[in-house]
Amino acid sequence: MSTLLLNYLGGKFQPAVAGATREYLNPADNSVIGQVTESSAEDAVMAIDGARRAFDEGAWPTTPSAERASKLFELADLIEKNADEFARRDTLNNGKPLREAKFDAADAASCFRYFAGLATKPHGESIDLPDPNMICQTIREPVGVCGQIIPWNYPLLMAAWKLAPGLAAGNCCLLKPSELTPWSVSLLFEIIDGVGFPEGSVQLLYGAGDPVGSALAASGKVDKIAFTGGTTTGRKIMMAATGNLKRVSLELGGKSPLIVFDDIDQDVALDFALFGIYAGQGEVCNAGSRILVQKSVFDEFVAKFAEAAAKIVVGAGSDETSEMGPLITKAHQKKVLDFIASGQAEGAKLLVGGEAYSDARSIGNFVQPTAFVGAPLGSRIVREEIFGPVAVLIPFEDEEEAVRLANDTPYGLSGAVFTSDGGRAQRVIRRIRAGVTWINAFHFTFNEAPWGGYKQSGFGRELGTHGYDAYTEVKQITTNLRPARLGWYSKV
Ligand code: NDP
Repeated sequence: MSTLLLNYLGGKFQPAVAGATREYLNPADNSVIGQVTESSAEDAVMAIDGARRAFDEGAWPTTPSAERASKLFELADLIEKNADEFARRDTLNNGKPLREAKFDAADAASCFRYFAGLATKPHGESIDLPDPNMICQTIREPVGVCGQIIPWNYPLLMAAWKLAPGLAAGNCCLLKPSELTPWSVSLLFEIIDGVGFPEGSVQLLYGAGDPVGSALAASGKVDKIAFTGGTTTGRKIMMAATGNLKRVSLELGGKSPLIVFDDIDQDVALDFALFGIYAGQGEVCNAGSRILVQKSVFDEFVAKFAEAAAKIVVGAGSDETSEMGPLITKAHQKKVLDFIASGQAEGAKLLVGGEAYSDARSIGNFVQPTAFVGAPLGSRIVREEIFGPVAVLIPFEDEEEAVRLANDTPYGLSGAVFTSDGGRAQRVIRRIRAGVTWINAFHFTFNEAPWGGYKQSGFGRELGTHGYDAYTEVKQITTNLRPARLGWYSKV
């Protein structure tokens, strides 16, 4: 049994005031990995007050950017050094295959490195004014206290996406991970503690969405909430944030289209389509869950897809041969299986998968790689985010129909088009109403490129320079070069 995972507040690891704890599990067999601190609203208030003091009176916001960068570079190096342990923890606690968790650890290190570099780059402007006696410059300042609420699907990487830009820009960050996946983040904060940041400038608060996440969202002392998670929770956060009109960025769900034209190498498109929906067990905000295939190649593509999906090796992520792991909880497994049942009830034809496993894997939360054809366009499996390994394959006639089907969703996180016709690729991708798009690729994500959604997939951008800017306020500084009496009031 591992030791209790503790909050990290005011530069110290400490339990919740009331001493409450909860278990965190391995979704491959639902065994208990360890215990994590369960904070209350009282702990949240304490953490927020600490972050507020750290921002208003502490050193971090005014630490020179080169020094901030140097701490983040050191952090990146240590993440890299501990990459195997990070990957082990995320695999055991989240379920994802080890090769994916290793990728996440490397990507998390790169994310800190990217934003460390960005911290020292020019961020201001000089603006010409019509009055020759006046000059104007802009500078970027940190937003303040940032509450950062992250989900369970990328425990380490989502922490990096939030903390790296937030800290690089001089904010004081208060991270609330998912209660389901606290393990890798605890190692991250051990490293943070070793690197040494000013007291209260970077804090970790374990606890449930309600009361802990909701306290961050509602607090008048928090200046910004950065949230990744479900759309329903995103709505609640936005409403709670209205009290002090705090800045909000929301990275929510999706129902992303992957469009395959008949002129592309079908095996290339097939590889990406499988990867698009089954990587991360489909528990990925931008999963390519609607695969739109041109009618001329639909039957052939569908047959190959079914054959390939059935061959995916499903097992515990810690087994190096596994290509797809278990879902996060038994409750989520049930939710996904209920979606599959609803698809069949609404008239879709199950192409492959569709079940949990009855062998030794039944102890875990595994669901077979699943796909449907013939799903009515209004059915739940076509319209709602399933957040599991379930795809629908839908035929289309031509460009017009592909674009119409692709955009027929309340979401707009991502989309992709596969074609060898460069003109068509540009025409189609520019008409997709989504924030993250690919031509002849899927899922590839770079710390350098902005990430975020249109429509009900949220707003605001993470990563890239846009992601950095989102952690800053723009200040105008206008200077009078020739101060002289104004003479505005006749008797003064
Ligand atoms: P949530 O959106 O509930 O969880 C994401 C984070 O928000 C967690 O840290 C959670 O805390 C926290 N949270 C929950 N309620 C509140 C609240 N009222 N105020 C502030 N923070 C809160 O996702 P779920 O785990 O419940 O998953 C539900 C669905 O959301 C999934 O089936 C999927 O469709 C979608 N989802 C999308 C993700 C994405 O990457 N876009 C990621 C995860 C889920 P805690 O869990 O510790 O209670």
